Amino acid sequence: MTGRSDCIFCRIAAGAIPATIVREDEHTIAFRDLDPKAPLHVLVIPRGHIASINDIVDDDGPVLGALLLAARDVARSEGVAEAGYRLVVNTGAAAHQTVPHVHVHVLGGRDMSWPPG
Ligand code: 5GP
Ligand code: ZN
Repeated sequence: MTGRSDCIFCRIAAGAIPATIVREDEHTIAFRDLDPKAPLHVLVIPRGHIASINDIVDDDGPVLGALLLAARDVARSEGVAEAGYRLVVNTGAAAHQTVPHVHVHVLGGRDMSWPPG
């Protein structure tokens, strides 16, 4: 498979393990979180492996832009764009990043409290 065989999100991107995919394009894949924290919980990932925001480089700009455009589309297609939603990118241990492949959480369908935990 393309991507890293030891990375769960590379494996999802390669179709090697199943996921409920809601949107795909050249740069990104969006799929439902296995353990949703809100009525809407979708993860948007780059197809290529990037471990975290700490690892992005200038050339990643188009891919990173594509992640936000995809998140916007998911919010629209899932019906939360008007009400509001939250995008989260946990980075590193203190933020409880558990999967070391960049992902944007799209959370919605309920009031999102602030400040976050
Ligand atoms: P993090 O804590 O790294 O910001 O978020 C990782 C997210 O990935 C968690 O919300 C977790 O539920 C989700 N997740 C972990 N493994 C899988 C998986 O195999 N499939 C899917 N769909 N989601 C996963
Ligand atoms: Zn990966």
